[in-house]
Amino acid sequence: MGVLGIYGVKNAASLTYYGLHALQHRGQEGAGIVSFDDDGSAYRYHGLGLVSEVFDPDTLASLKGSIAVGNVRYANITRGGMNNLEPLFFRHRSGDFAITNDGNLVNSGQIAAYLENKGSLFQTSTDSELLAYLIKKDTSHPRIDEIKSALNMMEGGFSFVIATRNRIYAARDKYGLKPLALGRIGNGWVVSSETCAFELIGAEFVRDVEPGEVVTLDEHGIRSCLYSQFQRHKMCAMEFIYFARPDSDIDGCNVHAYRKESGRRLFRECPADADIVVGVPDSSLSAAQGYAEESGLPYEMGLVKSKYVGRTFIQPSQEMREMGVKMKLSAVRSIVKDKRIVLVDDSIVRGTTSLKIIKLLREAGAKEVHVRIASPRMTHPCFYGVDTSTFEELLCSRRNTEEARQVIGADSLGYLSPDSTIHSCPGRDDLCLACFTGEYPTSLYEHENHNN
Ligand code: SF4
Repeated sequence: MGVLGIYGVKNAASLTYYGLHALQHRGQEGAGIVSFDDDGSAYRYHGLGLVSEVFDPDTLASLKGSIAVGNVRYANITRGGMNNLEPLFFRHRSGDFAITNDGNLVNSGQIAAYLENKGSLFQTSTDSELLAYLIKKDTSHPRIDEIKSALNMMEGGFSFVIATRNRIYAARDKYGLKPLALGRIGNGWVVSSETCAFELIGAEFVRDVEPGEVVTLDEHGIRSCLYSQFQRHKMCAMEFIYFARPDSDIDGCNVHAYRKESGRRLFRECPADADIVVGVPDSSLSAAQGYAEESGLPYEMGLVKSKYVGRTFIQPSQEMREMGVKMKLSAVRSIVKDKRIVLVDDSIVRGTTSLKIIKLLREAGAKEVHVRIASPRMTHPCFYGVDTSTFEELLCSRRNTEEARQVIGADSLGYLSPDSTIHSCPGRDDLCLACFTGEYPTSLYEHENHNN
């Protein structure tokens, strides 16, 4: 999912709309914006579909004010639907507020039970609703203290953005699993899941929100406090590998540069005897470029992607994912015919996409297809909000590399090492690699038994 919040800019909702466009790759099932005007009135609009399908000029004009918060979301089957579309909006005697989040708590069951015992009745299954109830369970303290104490009860990966009539709060989980960047726009401020949104709306990057930090953006400028003394820098490796846009910088590292370096390292770790290098569009092109440069093999456009079909990884059902693969990729026969190909892909989740792409290349006349994956073998599910699927569905959860090669029909198969996955980001010494190693940075609470 992608979140964005703007403080102190005229027509904040329109800028949020453009920012959400830039974050569209993070979720295509629905979008929403809540804005606040100077009188404290709130306006909300959301719907299912792409940002450009949900909003039109009239709905945007109805979202008044200089404070806005927005979200693009994807969801699996159990978590989809209109009810869960964010930002959620809450009315309260101490002031109305809106909350949106990118991520997933691992202790949401415990928090929900605790709140239900105190009388809460939930209308959604979102973590944002849990945060709202936790903040409001006792309003006798300043709001920032309520937010800090609520965040301290939450375990998992999250980037929350909270908007009120006169300020925005933005908080990142203490493990640093989810990205959240802070920018300056005119006299106002913006927070966004990715920096690629800043370019489009004319904002300037200031810094990343730190793990365990809450920033407050209001008429006093920016204020910062830590809600937790425990801090880690376990950014989700899949943000670099697959999820984020190549023009974004995450924790100071450009995503395209990361992927290119991962491709170079991939060649050094898993060379292949071949004629050309082909990347799977779009998220693997940078890694394929790096592989080609390091190997000296020509980089060719052997696969072409239709621009008008969504990403298969974040479609909610297997049936939709399979249709998506057929609709979106074609092999370029004149380039791949009679060639030994190194096919560079960012990751293998279920293996269905790889199987189909290899079939496409062979049908177009490819002589050999050597698959090189710019990440380690994905063996474990993610519980922090990335829909990498269940343990049973993952190609490599119970298969070794040779068995996986046979399933996808490749001539050879090689993966990047966990070490190179971290060190493709210069100066970095840690990332979350849990879906590759099974070493989760947090307790897993109710998910504990699903880890094998
Ligand atoms: S488990 Fe994998 S997908 Fe989930 S946060 Fe960690 S690296 Fe990212």
